Parts: sequence; C-alpha cells; structure tokens
Amino acid sequence: MSDLPSQWTHEPRKVLRFRPGDKVADIDTDSSPGYSDGKDGSEELQNERNERFAGLQEMLYANGRAGDNRSLLLVLQGMDTAGKGGTVKHVVGAGNPQGIHYTSFGVPTEEERAHHYLWRVRKALPAAGNIGVFDRSHYEDVLVVRVHELVPRDVWEPRYDEINAFEKELVDSGTTLVKCAMFVSLDEQKRRLSERLERPDKYWKYNPGDVAERKLWPAYQEAYQAMLDRTSTDYAPWFVIPCDKKWYSRLAINELLIEALKGMKLEWPPADFDVEAEKKKLAEA
Ligand code: ADP
Repeated sequence: MSDLPSQWTHEPRKVLRFRPGDKVADIDTDSSPGYSDGKDGSEELQNERNERFAGLQEMLYANGRAGDNRSLLLVLQGMDTAGKGGTVKHVVGAGNPQGIHYTSFGVPTEEERAHHYLWRVRKALPAAGNIGVFDRSHYEDVLVVRVHELVPRDVWEPRYDEINAFEKELVDSGTTLVKCAMFVSLDEQKRRLSERLERPDKYWKYNPGDVAERKLWPAYQEAYQAMLDRTSTDYAPWFVIPCDKKWYSRLAINELLIEALKGMKLEWPPADFDVEAEKKKLAEA
C-alpha cells in the first residue's frame, strides 16, 4: 500500500523520471511537479518524511548486518548552488550516519588522474546495507570534462556506454541507483551566489571560479542533455529535479529515496537465535 502523502498528486518516481525526448531547455526549474501544495506546511511534511526515510534506512542497514548484500546509491548531479549540499544535510542527514557513506567528487587528485576515471568511484561504492551518496559523481567525466575539453572527444565520447555498463554491473550486484539531476535557473543561481557573498557564514561555499562557469551555461545545458539522453536506462533512470524551490527539491528527493527503499521490499530480519530461550536466560541472569 502506498503511504505517499496526499500533497503528492503523482508519484515522484513517475512524474520526475526523464523520458526520451525530454529537453533540458524546457525544464521549468521553478515548478513543483506532482505536488499540489505550496511552501506552507512543507517543513512539517519534510520532518515526517525524514522519519520515514530514517526508518527504512535502518531496516536496510539491519538487513545488511544479517547478510543481505543490497545497497542504495544516491547520485546528485547539478550545477553549483543547485542544492546538493542542502539535500545531503536536510534529507540524507536524517538517517543514521552508521549506514551512510558520503563522498564528494572534486577535481581529481594526481593519484586519481593516474587511474581510470571510474577508479575513485568504485572505491566509494556503498557496502551491503549502506546508502552511498555521491555529491557529484562519475558524470563529471562527461560534464565538466566535456565542456572544458579536458580530454579529447574520442576519449569522453565512449564514456556514456561505459557508464551504462558500469551501472548495469552495480544494479546486477544488488545496488539500487537513484540518480537525481538537479536543475536551477541562471537567475536563481545568481541570487544564491550573491547571498553567499553577503553572508560571512556562507563565504566558505563561494568559489570565484563559479562565476566564470556561468558563461558556459549553454555548453553545460548541452552536456546535461547528452547525459540524460544517453545514460537514463531502465535499470538506472535519471530523475529531473526542479530546484529553484529548495523545499520542493528536498521533498522530492526524500520521496524518491523512500520509494526506492520501499521497492526493495525490506522486512526486519528475523532473530537468528531462540527469542523465548534468550528471554528466559536473561531473566535468570
Ligand atoms: P563544490 O563546488 O561542489 O562545493 P568542490 O569545491 O570540491 O565542490 O568542487 C568540485 C569541482 O570539481 C567542480 O568544479 C567540479 O566540476 C570539479 N570536478 C569534479 N570532478 C571532476 C573531474 N572528473 N574532472 C575535472 N573536474 C572535476
């Protein structure tokens, strides 16, 4: 039975799923697909759904401890200020850190550059029962790398197929992927960047290089389009998240995680000991 809150008129996993033919240029970043309400009340709902997520995450972890090899991998891709960090803090942060493996992928180190681009990604994959979170990911190798021509086309071009094969391997070995492409408008990005310059508690998030990247917006749009067209598969589809409204993007990603965990049909693992006998022993101890 679905426990989707009534504010959702459509299941996020259906309404947000990227479909062949969808165009990045047509994404309304300020919209709230599938959600009938506004910001009022969203905080209360967020708290409620954080708890639901935390409960399911604990169950996944418990199953991992009991020998179930399944795991979940949340991939967050988006332009600067799209809200990756906020999602980690306000959505994933509701879970128990014991079962969460967070990795952010920045400019590759010298050691990483000496290896295949998937080397650092493989090392960061979640163990059984864990939720892995990728704040940026292997997709940078077909986004920033393509836009800045960090390697020639004949090197990045085959990566789409290679990434699909890599993700198929992950799914076949028990990892459920939730891939979120987070889209913010150019105007909203400007607003968020200027806020970072106004507030000393946000300076740490500001990177002067982000301003230059704004000039490359059309090239990034094209690279995101190719990524969605070529790597949204049946086994690891992309979800397109409008992110101008932070409260919406967080609720949506929270719900996608809940739906993915529910899809695993988890139960609490049964005791591998005689409960009654243990109760008796404990009473006498
Ligand atoms: P953020 O900007 O997300 O807070 P960082 O300050 O660590 O995080 O910056 C990440 C930067 O690393 C981004 O500009 C991103 O494009 C870049 N990056 C990530 N992966 C790669 C890659 N494979 N090759 C080149 N640059 C990359």
